[in-house]
Amino acid sequence: MKVGAKIASGKTKNIYELDDPSLVLIEFRDDVTALDGRKRDFIAGKGAINAAITAKLMEVLNTSQTPTHFVKLEPPSAIIAKRLRMLPLEVVCRNIAAGHLVKRLPFKEGDLLDPPIVEFYLKDDERGDPMVNKRHMAALGLATPSEAEYMEEATLKANEVLKRFLASRELTLIDFKLEFGKLPDGSLIIGDELDPDCMRIRDSSTGRILDKDLYRRGSPLEEVLKAYLECKRRIVEGG
Ligand code: UDP
Repeated sequence: MKVGAKIASGKTKNIYELDDPSLVLIEFRDDVTALDGRKRDFIAGKGAINAAITAKLMEVLNTSQTPTHFVKLEPPSAIIAKRLRMLPLEVVCRNIAAGHLVKRLPFKEGDLLDPPIVEFYLKDDERGDPMVNKRHMAALGLATPSEAEYMEEATLKANEVLKRFLASRELTLIDFKLEFGKLPDGSLIIGDELDPDCMRIRDSSTGRILDKDLYRRGSPLEEVLKAYLECKRRIVEGG
């Protein structure tokens, strides 16, 4: 397939047109960022790892009646996906308290959240990605109440599927972030990525961190790479 013009470039990914206008090529770069882009580095090989993990996890969702934009892996570091009109929202699902939740509310790190918590954030680096509720989203013209309801239900479903799949690899899903976009017929599906940049994943028996928290906490970049490689080995290769 012929790769066309660049449509968009984010903090860690580039998106290109393809000759089929209903598809895009999403290239995962080796950049790693935190603190809304204020901390930034490169980890050679990370793009290929994240493309492979996203491909596997989205394939799992696609085959579990939780549709995503994923079509196929384009090695070494890209995926082909359905072209979506993305909503400027981040939908976070939490099974165990961590990160912002324990800073903002009286939860302790490691508290079990059952049932899981779903939160919506506006994608807006300048405002520090503020949390929004269904009425904010409606007033801002971002999503109707029924679209917000659908995203919440789809996120909870994705959580059950991912939690079960990762548990089969001896991995615990602490929390994760999804983004949704619209197909030309107006239906909403999961877009963006699913990898250790946007999920907290721990080894189930030791609690060892296998995600971007290592980078956020200042671990050497080689250790971050080692953790991402282990994630890929266990998620993609099953070993
Ligand atoms: N997350 C993300 N992008 C963001 C904010 C959060 O991918 O801009 C992911 C993050 O990796 C974690 C989950 O969403 O898996 C919950 O993150 P939290 O709200 O605790 O914020 P953090 O402490 O990660 O900044």
